[in-house]
Amino acid sequence: MRHLNSDPFKRIASMRASRYLIATVKETPADAVIVSHQLMLRAGLVRQLASGLYSWLPTGMRVLKKVEQIIREELDRSGAQELLMPTIQPAELWQESGRIDAMEGQMLKVKDRHDRDFVYGPTHEEVITDIARNELNSYRQLPMNFYQIQTKFRDEFRPRFGVMRAREFIMKDGYSFHADQACLSAEYDNMYQAYCRIFDRLGFNYRPVEADSGAMGGAASHEFQVLADSGEDYIAYAEGGTYAANIERAEALLPTTPRADATAAMTLIDTPDAKTIEQLVTQYNLPIEKTVKTLIVEASEDSDAELIALIVRGDHVLNEVKAEKLAQVKSPLTMASEARIRALIGAGPGSLGPVNLPIPCVVDRSVSVLSDFSAGSNLDGKHYLNINWERDVALPEIADLRNIVAGDPSPDGQGTLQILKGIEVGHIFQLGDKYSKALKAEVLDQGGKTRPMLMGCYGIGVTRIVAAAIEQNYDANGIVWPYAIAPFHVSIVPLNAHKSPDVMAVAEQLYIDLQAAGFDVLLDDRDKKTSPGVKFADMELIGIPHRIVVSDRGLATGLLEYKSRASEDKIEMPIAEVIDHIH
Ligand code: ATP
Ligand code: MG
Ligand code: MG
Ligand code: MG
Repeated sequence: MRHLNSDPFKRIASMRASRYLIATVKETPADAVIVSHQLMLRAGLVRQLASGLYSWLPTGMRVLKKVEQIIREELDRSGAQELLMPTIQPAELWQESGRIDAMEGQMLKVKDRHDRDFVYGPTHEEVITDIARNELNSYRQLPMNFYQIQTKFRDEFRPRFGVMRAREFIMKDGYSFHADQACLSAEYDNMYQAYCRIFDRLGFNYRPVEADSGAMGGAASHEFQVLADSGEDYIAYAEGGTYAANIERAEALLPTTPRADATAAMTLIDTPDAKTIEQLVTQYNLPIEKTVKTLIVEASEDSDAELIALIVRGDHVLNEVKAEKLAQVKSPLTMASEARIRALIGAGPGSLGPVNLPIPCVVDRSVSVLSDFSAGSNLDGKHYLNINWERDVALPEIADLRNIVAGDPSPDGQGTLQILKGIEVGHIFQLGDKYSKALKAEVLDQGGKTRPMLMGCYGIGVTRIVAAAIEQNYDANGIVWPYAIAPFHVSIVPLNAHKSPDVMAVAEQLYIDLQAAGFDVLLDDRDKKTSPGVKFADMELIGIPHRIVVSDRGLATGLLEYKSRASEDKIEMPIAEVIDHIH
């Protein structure tokens, strides 16, 4: 912690609670399912504006800034250059790269007043390649590595878990340009190391895993997965070995894939019969959780009815990308559900109210039973269906997968394989010449020949990191921030200050001294209407690592009370020693 003073960037203004928005909430918000979402709302870090759109309140913003600072320091140290590109991009660029159709659905499209087509950037390969083709012309200028920290928009199929899967979110995206493969590989390793330093400094328990490069194209790819049960990804990891891959990649290596069983189960589930589900549950010994979830589907057109039917029918929706693909498949509807859905959509607004529809479905690898439907319309006149389902059951696929691999040696013969859940916080790719070829981003090589540059790309989910950090650092009283990204390092709580000028004077002096020693301090000078109990609860919920209580009783013997957020113990110590103790 002593390194703090050495870094002039790191200081963020200390605050007085009386002039600071402490937007804490006692009750757990009903629609927040995972801990980080609940605590981000309760501690007053973020507020939802609309589905997948979040405002960052001052406390959240302070954490976000510290996360960004760590990322900037490590990337600058690795030789990357920061720049900033527009969020709005001309649609033609995406036609040129040939990706416009592949990103259909995820991309928000906008038109300007001249009727020209634009997109709100879901990612920036196209724009950076356009910069590279204009600014770079010789191998002598290479390699180059650029990054930005900027807002992205992806119209996620199922925004959820707060900022974890939002529609608007902040990403660090980086792109490197090279004359040859050896240089690209070296920079890829350089970035891999920088990512490890970043996630180490953030205090994460994480694993870099091999990944498929998917829609981005290219050869090598790694994801950085923060281990957490709330994670949406599965990874296969060799304890005591080196093998680590995400499940999509690991499955390809496994001797027996669990797909066959999963398909069999799926076929059964396709028959809308509650008994079948009960049998499955017994057969696979699946745990049953009583949770109710809501999926809101825009239902203004026939195509949406098909999408709903696909979900209701029980098609295997692996992730939002697959779900989007499924939505494009014209598939016959089951008679029962088609009739019901069409009746509902046809009914339109005005006919609100739940409709009993007990149909089993599979969403995100869990088997659920639909409990009700309700139709409605928004202010914009679009019709919506709210689909509630309950009774989540882990899909046999994962149970089987665990059985198949758990305890097995791994693919490379070292260690024993484990299946863990993870949150993808970073992803790096070797893109090769995919974008430089399509957009003609070429340089002259040593022999004077024109060649497309080779590219790497490197993403970090900046806003997602804040949620992931909470998933790994909380207790019953709230967030327990890792020191490096805590919104404040120390809180000072003066007791009964309105009655005791001495208490306030000592608290004020401490406020000044702690700042001078390099700490970001929150002085809880709220008046007597905020009781000491509420102040303590707030400081715990917000998760400030150190707390100092100043009281008349303590001052009588020259003592302050110190408590670390990570421990239950309260320690009395002389005023002169407290700053050294925190260091
Ligand atoms: P996911 O698998 O979670 O959908 P992705 O593979 O689509 O993520 P990338 O294209 O690899 O995402 O983007 C780089 C990083 O941006 C991801 O590793 C993730 O941390 C973050 N990210 C992606 N989508 C979101 C989102 N909807 N909300 C918050 N962060 C996101
Ligand atoms: Mg995605
Ligand atoms: Mg992913
Ligand atoms: Mg990814």
